[in-house]
Amino acid sequence: MRKASNPNLHARGRWAVRAHAALLEQHGQQDWWPAEDRFEIMVGAILTQNTAWTNVEKAIANLKGADMLRADTIVQAAPDVLAQLIRPSGYFNVKARRLACFCDWYVRAGGYQTLRYWPTQRLRKALLGVHGVGPETADDMLLYAFHRPVFVIDAYTRRIFARLGTIRGDEAYEELRAAFEHQLAGGTRNFAQLHALIVRHGKDVCRPAPRCGACCLNAICRFYRHRHQPV
Ligand code: SF4
Repeated sequence: MRKASNPNLHARGRWAVRAHAALLEQHGQQDWWPAEDRFEIMVGAILTQNTAWTNVEKAIANLKGADMLRADTIVQAAPDVLAQLIRPSGYFNVKARRLACFCDWYVRAGGYQTLRYWPTQRLRKALLGVHGVGPETADDMLLYAFHRPVFVIDAYTRRIFARLGTIRGDEAYEELRAAFEHQLAGGTRNFAQLHALIVRHGKDVCRPAPRCGACCLNAICRFYRHRHQPV
């Protein structure tokens, strides 16, 4: 179902910039994405769907241990062998198929040495056409593996900024992506840093049960204000 758009998104000042400054002050620079090379980032972007990063690390370690963290090797792997290696990441049969489809596309397209020259919109469209690659996964790859200026919207982003009161939280992916990209000057570096900070904050502070007393954003947070309103 198409989500209703939010006409207030562009009319509320530079909320993303403010939040970025406060999060940077609280958490410092984030060293992201945790991976040894670009292909590992892409594999991680698929394996991290619906699971914690610690599980992804185990799956990637298994692939490395089997000397299979290469696109051509993954394409040739038997589906059950691949599924067992990535089992720690959950939904392993589904993800094995997604990984194999992605690697097949990646190899056929010429790998990084070819894809690096594709314009961002062409590359994004192609990624979105690969089985199992949705907007968040595609944008993780574009931002962190290809260093393209696209902002990643994830569940942490929706939770934190909905609590702050700057978004509703149920807007369409592309609407939120456009709003963040519009606000954040500096392109790729700022996008990569803010997304990493959002993930850190969503995991450590603005959790499902939020730790508002330890939050650098509580002075600008609608959720916090409502909670602490005198009755
Ligand atoms: S004040 Fe609380 S609800 Fe608001 S962003 Fe911080 S942790 Fe989340």
